[in-house]
Amino acid sequence: MQVPLLDLTRQYKNLQEEMEREVLKVLSSGYYILGPQVTGFEEEMSAFTSAKYAIGLNSGTDALRMSLRAFDVGPGDEVITSSFSYFATCEVISELGAEPIFCDIEYDTFNIDPEDVKRKITDKTKAILPVHLFGQLCDMEAIMAIAREKEIPVIEDACQAIGARSAAGNAGAIGDTGTFSFFPSKNLGAAGDGGMLTTSNSDIVDLTKSLRMHGTITDRYRHEILGYNSRLDEIQAAVLRVKLRHLKEYIEQRREHAEFYKSQLSTIDGIEPAVETEGFYHTYHQYTVRIKNGKRDEVFDFLRKNDVGCAIYYKVPLHKQPVYGDSCGDIELPVCEKAAEEVLSLPVFPELTVDEREMVVETLHKAMK
Ligand SMILES: *Cc1c(COP(=O)(O)O)cnc(C)c1O
Repeated sequence: MQVPLLDLTRQYKNLQEEMEREVLKVLSSGYYILGPQVTGFEEEMSAFTSAKYAIGLNSGTDALRMSLRAFDVGPGDEVITSSFSYFATCEVISELGAEPIFCDIEYDTFNIDPEDVKRKITDKTKAILPVHLFGQLCDMEAIMAIAREKEIPVIEDACQAIGARSAAGNAGAIGDTGTFSFFPSKNLGAAGDGGMLTTSNSDIVDLTKSLRMHGTITDRYRHEILGYNSRLDEIQAAVLRVKLRHLKEYIEQRREHAEFYKSQLSTIDGIEPAVETEGFYHTYHQYTVRIKNGKRDEVFDFLRKNDVGCAIYYKVPLHKQPVYGDSCGDIELPVCEKAAEEVLSLPVFPELTVDEREMVVETLHKAMK
């Protein structure tokens, strides 16, 4: 038996009839860009997230880029974010000419440490960009309190956290904007690229709709600002609408796998299971454990050799990425750097079988001997 880290064909097979019917409808409609499927999906996502507005875009990266544009981020500005994330989070900050200011993370959740956010605010801070990593919200109560006091806008990178929540609210509906990715491997994945920006601010809606159409507003050939080509297309929206109807149940299946792993892995010496903070609803985009005592790479190799899929998210913190060279200077983010040495993500996709997850645990037992 081989256990994949992720197998998208299983979900497709379960939804094949429904999905092909909807996709074929789009093909025969002749309406491929910004039509009824996208509008319908935007309304459904606004209801799902409880954000007032949702705007379909090309990717999660574009949703981040447009959020930064909405707050006029550019050269000379600083944007505070986590160093433990996917590269897209900081890429857009740098691309717009601003400086990403990297924070350390909390040990248990791998999410940005609000105390470090507070320490790093300066007169140049233009936005705070917390990332809800692996499917669990950041401590948004603390972050929003800091941001509101200083009147700094908050952009939620919710690309891994659709459906997550805490007492602070739902992912994407707490900050000034929320950003979602529908990259195929995400908890709600398209058959290609896709993304979404959520907000309760109608001015940001107008700007985002303009930016996704090359900076046009009412007249398609009158360009008021410099924008992008960044639309979610009708076929992807049709696929996503089908999957959205099943998302709650998919998340519950992930949570059930996580429960199992937690009960089985807490007894293995040298492994620390994933942590769900009390009062938080974790959606387990990744089920990420810590392998202690410098054994992570060895365990990773052992699992791979024994047909158990796994991955390291993330091996290189953002402040250590080669593109930044020495420009991040001597900043030290000890909790983040330790995490990069210890993390290991295990298969947790909804369609994972009971036999497969048992094999994951058995193989981990052997690896830790
Ligand atoms: C996937 C992801 C993105 C980028 O989303 P794309 O749709 O691939 O552009 C940004 N941030 C995080 C944390 C992600 O996981």
